Amino acid sequence: MSKWRKNHLDTSSPEPLEVVIIGNGPSGICLSYLLSGYTPYMKPDAVHPHPLLQRKLLEAPGVSILDQDLDYLSEGLEGRSQSPVALLFDALLRPDTDFGGDMESVLTWRLQKERAIPHVVLGRNLPGGAWHSIEGSMVTLSQGQWMGLPDLQVKDWMCKKRRGLRNSRATAGDIAHYYVDYVSKKGLSHNFVSGAVVTAVARRMPEPSVAGARDPSPLFQVSGFLIAKDQSRQPFSLCARNVVLATGTSDSPARLGIPGETLPFVHYELSALELAIRAGTLTPASDPILIVGAGLSAADAVLYARHYNIPVIHAFRRPVDDPGLVFNQLPKMLYPEYHKVHQMMREQSILSPSPYKGYCSLPEHQLLFFKEDHQAMFQDPNGLQKVFGISLVLVLIGSHPNLSFLPGAGADLAVDPEQPLSPKRNPIDVDPFTYQSTQQQGLYAVGPLAGDNFVRFVQGGALAVASSLLRKEARKPP
Ligand SMILES: Cc1cc2nc3c(=O)[nH]c(=O)nc-3n(C[C@H](O)[C@H](O)[C@H](O)COP(=O)(O)OP(=O)(O)OC[C@H]3O[C@@H](n4cnc5c(N)ncnc54)[C@H](O)[C@@H]3O)c2cc1C
Repeated sequence: MSKWRKNHLDTSSPEPLEVVIIGNGPSGICLSYLLSGYTPYMKPDAVHPHPLLQRKLLEAPGVSILDQDLDYLSEGLEGRSQSPVALLFDALLRPDTDFGGDMESVLTWRLQKERAIPHVVLGRNLPGGAWHSIEGSMVTLSQGQWMGLPDLQVKDWMCKKRRGLRNSRATAGDIAHYYVDYVSKKGLSHNFVSGAVVTAVARRMPEPSVAGARDPSPLFQVSGFLIAKDQSRQPFSLCARNVVLATGTSDSPARLGIPGETLPFVHYELSALELAIRAGTLTPASDPILIVGAGLSAADAVLYARHYNIPVIHAFRRPVDDPGLVFNQLPKMLYPEYHKVHQMMREQSILSPSPYKGYCSLPEHQLLFFKEDHQAMFQDPNGLQKVFGISLVLVLIGSHPNLSFLPGAGADLAVDPEQPLSPKRNPIDVDPFTYQSTQQQGLYAVGPLAGDNFVRFVQGGALAVASSLLRKEARKPP
């Protein structure tokens, strides 16, 4: 283990850490920025285009946003997020973006080290989270500008790197690189431990203090392993007063639950296709690959395969014109490539007379099983069974949060504990202005886990957590 990593995870210290953040994606990075003493103030001469917000901001001109009443400030804001604090922070960072404007942030950032709260950010990969697992050439769904974190605009970073946005969107590779750079440019690297996988978080009562009195709040024991360069695993265990869950939702791909799913040619990540093409095991002369799913990841896989002239069978359960399909919700002008895939799904279907060579869609088809000899059995909408020979399978039907490191996999933390945890339908139940779990003091959740599914909006959760932790600090006896 490097000295740097060892210092971070030194368990001999009798004092618990103030905060452990699990997950080093945009949520964890933004929170680390705020906990490092970077403090947002309203620019003295800025005028926010939202009149009510502007009036409220003028009421406390010299007071940091972190020290203001987030509930009061965010009241009355509307937008594409359900979270008032997400809307607030987004409105302060990108004041008129939803009206097509490009107005600069009304915030100015001051580094006030005396306000910093010691913390560690643990993450499986490099800082940037899910963005290191997304195929680098894929273009973001959001505008490139919306992928940025506070006080470093993506467009300025791109300009310095001599890179450009594509039709105002960025590639996933550039965004992953931007996050890594952000951590080092903002001087946050010493808080980050990459290659650290958390396997257990347990509650424990604090040791009695010298005077014999107990610290009233229970602590968290965070354990896991560090992946060394030679891939060996070294265990660690940390004690913390507060834990922030920022683990996103991309680590546990959804499965079909059918026989043959564990066969070696069945994969859940686009990178498998990339690897097979690079290794030359998949070529335009191979049997078709099977792509399962009708979301944007499946569409990305279709585009990728088409780019390399790999024949594709594309299967999904819903009808092509189902209003619930994401393609039916995206403006055609802004997303021509996804519109193209949608058109292929409709026009090159096995249900229509002349399927186009190289791509064939199977709408409303249910997969029944895979066989070792690379066969996939389907049932069509009329109940007929069909078999196809395939070279490789990509199952891209979404992913679930993985909180297996919590007791009961965190099920009791959800809004409805009886239902599975889901970022869209059943996220972790948090207080909307602190993002602290309503079930456990000291446990926070940000990002998709708390229902914020876009980078633009995960930052509000980080603001709420930082504000709550600063208030806890202020309440501590001197
Ligand atoms: C294909 C795809 C395209 C997307 N396109 C867009 C887009 O265009 N615009 C947009 O705004 N959003 C987009 N998103 C969503 C976006 O990626 C997420 O909203 C965002 O990354 C969430 O940030 P996060 O920090 O909360 O979680 P993540 O980015 O998911 O990061 C969490 C990190 O925690 C790590 N982790 C998990 N468990 C553990 C553990 N036990 N121990 C240690 N580390 C752990 C994970 O490996 C991961 O690296 C896209 C997502 C995908 C999958």
